[in-house]
Amino acid sequence: MTDFTSALDADGVATITWDVAGKSMNVMSLEGFAQLNTLIDAALADPAVKGVILTSGKKDFAGGMDLNVIARMREGGAQAIFDGVMQMHGVLRKIERAGMDPKTLKGAKPIVAALPGTALGIGLELPLACHRIIAADNPKAKIGLPEIMVGIFPGAGGTTRLVRKMGAMMAAPFLLEGKLSAPAAAKAAGLIDEVVAPEALLARAKEWVLSAKETDLVKPWDAKGYKMPGGAPYQPAGFMTFVGAGAMVHGKTQGVYPAAKALLAAVYEGALVPFDTALRIEARHFTSVLMNPSSSAMIRSLFINKEALEKGANRPKVEDQSVRKLGVIGAGMMGAGIAYVSANAGIEVVLIDATQDAADRGRAHSEALLDKGIQRRKVTAEKKAEVLARITATTDYAALAGCDLIVEAVFEDPKVKAEVTAKVEAATGPDCIFATNTSTLPISGLAKASQRPDQFIGIHFFSPVDKMMLVEIIRGAQTGDRAVAKALDFVRQIRKTPIVVNDARFFYANRCIIPYINEGIRMLAEGVEPALIENAARLVGLPLGPLQLVDETSIDLGVKIAKATRAAMGDAYPDDAVDAVIFRMADLGRLGRKAQAGFYSYDDKGNRLGLWDGLADLYPTADAQPDLTEVQHRLLFAQVLEAVRALEDGVLTDIREGDVGAILGWGFAPWSGGPFGWLDILGAARAVDLCTNLATRFGPRFTPPKLLQDLAHSGRGFYTAPTAAAA
Ligand code: NAD
Repeated sequence: MTDFTSALDADGVATITWDVAGKSMNVMSLEGFAQLNTLIDAALADPAVKGVILTSGKKDFAGGMDLNVIARMREGGAQAIFDGVMQMHGVLRKIERAGMDPKTLKGAKPIVAALPGTALGIGLELPLACHRIIAADNPKAKIGLPEIMVGIFPGAGGTTRLVRKMGAMMAAPFLLEGKLSAPAAAKAAGLIDEVVAPEALLARAKEWVLSAKETDLVKPWDAKGYKMPGGAPYQPAGFMTFVGAGAMVHGKTQGVYPAAKALLAAVYEGALVPFDTALRIEARHFTSVLMNPSSSAMIRSLFINKEALEKGANRPKVEDQSVRKLGVIGAGMMGAGIAYVSANAGIEVVLIDATQDAADRGRAHSEALLDKGIQRRKVTAEKKAEVLARITATTDYAALAGCDLIVEAVFEDPKVKAEVTAKVEAATGPDCIFATNTSTLPISGLAKASQRPDQFIGIHFFSPVDKMMLVEIIRGAQTGDRAVAKALDFVRQIRKTPIVVNDARFFYANRCIIPYINEGIRMLAEGVEPALIENAARLVGLPLGPLQLVDETSIDLGVKIAKATRAAMGDAYPDDAVDAVIFRMADLGRLGRKAQAGFYSYDDKGNRLGLWDGLADLYPTADAQPDLTEVQHRLLFAQVLEAVRALEDGVLTDIREGDVGAILGWGFAPWSGGPFGWLDILGAARAVDLCTNLATRFGPRFTPPKLLQDLAHSGRGFYTAPTAAAA
């Protein structure tokens, strides 16, 4: 067998070891599950076996189900999924019963899960079916059920068992937020039963197997008189939880995540019926989630493709370019953040600014973040000292000697950037790669200041650097492969997700965000209720409405970008109506959150109070308001069509990058899998119809790009082959 093996010792304890050949982490496949089933059957049938230890041959227990398998399950249809899930329930139920007589509740063989490290997804659902879960005290281990993060929910009994084990309220953060815990915290929460020293793990598991009493082997829900902890839905205590949960989840998800809804339904309905019926209910809801195109789109973008990009799917074949010594020029908001994430990843950093004070302030940003980490017990004092020791704050360019990568984050001014480029190149060796963090200036233009344009590249971080997971790498016209590989290896070192795009105004992310903001502002000028605009965005799963987004990034930045874009585009500039609004707001001093006045009102601490009353005077609302869907379509297509055009123009070369970049970069409705994922869910033909209609009414910015029209004609999607109907 390739995934599981079994060995029986002299005391009659069988150890079933999960150790998938050729992988560093165990993941469950259908074949693996079949092997486990065979070994469990054999252990239960063999009179020489007194009990079973289920453990792993690797340093971790398991990373979960193979999501490639899950993403493809839809192809088999709903009945096949349901049957497959019920079969899985059957095996786990067999482990849980372990040969027990259902009437007397006697005769079970003890089965214990011994977890050496991380146990996620099915890697915890399987232990939850065992009689006891013992984990090694491994501080690196993460234990939990992260399924919801990729658009599904624990569907191998984990939902039903956890709720029955802990109660709905206590299980909620693990099921609904995918909360992961280290072993000690998992034990404190009641997720697992025991934590022991790593070297004692198997001995303790064996001791437990040999000393287990009959009553230890009956799950509470199989015993008479079981009561759900915290109360079932129609008991007074449980009632409060269940009534509140629906509203709370809806409030957080806006109802656009099918998995969260289905999970709640499975928990609520399951709580009203006996355990085996609850498993059937869980299987039905799980099937419906897998059949929903949103779940496969989320798995594709948030897991499979994200991981592929992190592993270097588009990395040129060049030898390892890991960064040893990094120079960061400009210790402002971005430079300070870049220095922190790099030093935190073990890279030596020289942080330069025009004055020593400014450089020191940049380094102090790391200190503040590390102190916050200490307060939250995520960082130790030693780690803080270690990270800070890696950052040298100075004004002296000579300190850059030996740097193999520079990231420039000075003012957004081509002249300042050109001066810095020349100074850096004079101070660094001939192999050093130079990256600019510009957010708007074309890379190929900035590269003109470089003696080594093939070593000049864009590495565009998002703010705040320590939180935002996307890094956009921009290849200028002359950028060489080694520079791209360097940027990608750097992003891997700091554990973020890269996309690589070609050079063009605003690159990819900002190119799509700006039309979104502009569409919101345009609607305001047309007389659409501002609350309708903002709520329409939030209700379709966008994290911030367009007006809130401008307030956050500041209206004067919008004015600056508008002026620069108009200067570059001349007569082709399309956004006069938008500019009239933002210039007017800027004249009124309503510059956004930082001015405590923008499209929204704020209190003197900068807390947002609500949409500014004065908007109604500046932009009286029209008597006839559009319906919600129309507003949503305008807001979504404004971004999505720009993404399609970026692909047509060759700025994007890989739709996976377009989708992952949109979700991580600006929070584009994760439930959709990204702009291309959303178009596939909608169908190209329908998208073309909707856009054509919008173009007639609102202007050519909605004209469907040729690429989308071609897909509509061929019946294909961005990710999918032609449908039978169109073929
Ligand atoms: P900032 O004003 O906070 O920081 C700029 C820093 O550069 C200042 O500390 C300044 O003293 C220093 N500086 C200016 N000229 C210098 C010189 N000649 N030598 C050394 N240091 C010099 O600006 P920021 O928000 O950190 O932005 C920096 C760059 O990052 C800009 O190009 C900006 O477009 C880009 N960017 C910003 C964001 C954002 O959200 N703020 C996001 C992505 C990219």
